[in-house]
Amino acid sequence: MNKSVLEERKASISDKSEHGRGICCERESVSGAVSQRACVYCGARVVLNPITDAYHIVHGPIGCASYTWDIRGSLTSGASTYRNSFSTDLRETDIVFGGEKKLSAAIDELMEKTEPAPKLIFVYATCIAGVIGDDIEAVCRAAAKKYGIRVIPVKAPGFSGTKPQGYKLACDAVMALISPGINQSKRFGVNILGDYNLAGETWIIRSYLEEIGIPVISTITGDASYEKLMRAPTAVLNLVQCAGSSTYLAERMYAEMDIPYIKVSFFGIEDTTASLFRVADALGKPEISAKAREFAKRRSSEVVPVIAKYKPYLEGKRAAIFVGGGFKAISLIRQFNELGMKTMVAGTQTGKKDEYEIISALADDEAVILDDANPAELERFMLEKQADILVGGVKERPLAYKLGIAFCDHNHERKHPLAGFEGIENFVREVHTTINSPVWKYVKGGPA
Ligand code: SF4
Repeated sequence: MNKSVLEERKASISDKSEHGRGICCERESVSGAVSQRACVYCGARVVLNPITDAYHIVHGPIGCASYTWDIRGSLTSGASTYRNSFSTDLRETDIVFGGEKKLSAAIDELMEKTEPAPKLIFVYATCIAGVIGDDIEAVCRAAAKKYGIRVIPVKAPGFSGTKPQGYKLACDAVMALISPGINQSKRFGVNILGDYNLAGETWIIRSYLEEIGIPVISTITGDASYEKLMRAPTAVLNLVQCAGSSTYLAERMYAEMDIPYIKVSFFGIEDTTASLFRVADALGKPEISAKAREFAKRRSSEVVPVIAKYKPYLEGKRAAIFVGGGFKAISLIRQFNELGMKTMVAGTQTGKKDEYEIISALADDEAVILDDANPAELERFMLEKQADILVGGVKERPLAYKLGIAFCDHNHERKHPLAGFEGIENFVREVHTTINSPVWKYVKGGPA
């Protein structure tokens, strides 16, 4: 670890000899290191945006409002309100004289001009609103009283912490929203937390659960609506899909609503089958456990031939991973292991120590493990470890292509599901198509 790694970053880069335990993580990004990690506001927005009938007002300069549905494409079975984004577009004069009046006026305008009439509005304070100290809580309270709707403040200036802080603020906002329903009676069924219905993945997981006899009461927040969210306190179990963004919400729901939770992952055969078994067993009904085993056996047997078909073309290929959370990275490494591939670079934006330990155990013996990496580090280690493919998100795609390395989008912009048994097939095909594309023959430094 030398030249292209800043001195202050060295503790966040580890190899197998440290078993992930020594890695420095869950810290603020190093100033000037050009982190790939998104800001606090972005963390909050990613969790709340998929609520399909909510209005989102970004109280800040227009630039923050560019973080919209268009780059976080979760799908809806109902309203499309969430595809719009609203901003108070703060300017210099607002910074001098305050932006609270502008925010009140923005809420008034939404109430007057939008159809359907808002029932739920989230107001995000971004960096500038945080610096000038606008009291968005007071404005939201007044608007909620004036219009008899829910107006929930999310104080998320980007500078106030790290992306997980934004997740936490979003979870607090969800709790503020659903807490009035706390005294409803419980009924047999689960909530899915931390699945954002990318390319319809929530619908896939819901269909599995329903087929094995488990009703889904609420999804938080993929394809969620105000009414459906209000039913969430009635569930008997929470399933946490994206652990990074939703474990805090699950803990609060356990403490305040007596709903226990388990962590699940529906990426890859191993994690999908194990998760179905664990969910079924946690509900304590032998007939559901039996159905889960029959279902998983049948669906696994359909994808095993697909994996067998592509494995000879992928065995021995070298993968680099840079994704949001540690749980997803773990599932991805398991999927690469099933394909006989080696994970040589494994990084996350928000991984935790225990997750890095598992990542370290699963990755190749020569792998390098990175927390909160920047483009220079990713470039250096992808080249050094001779990666054939990078799995990441929109910010990593150009980096891979510029280096002549294949790329697989595993973030919020993709258009096809990668979760569940359908997702396993899509993933294997995509990895094969991109790694073995003839284009790499013509790109200097490519894998072919
Ligand atoms: S860092 Fe601040 S200014 Fe930039 S997008 Fe986040 S909240 Fe907006």
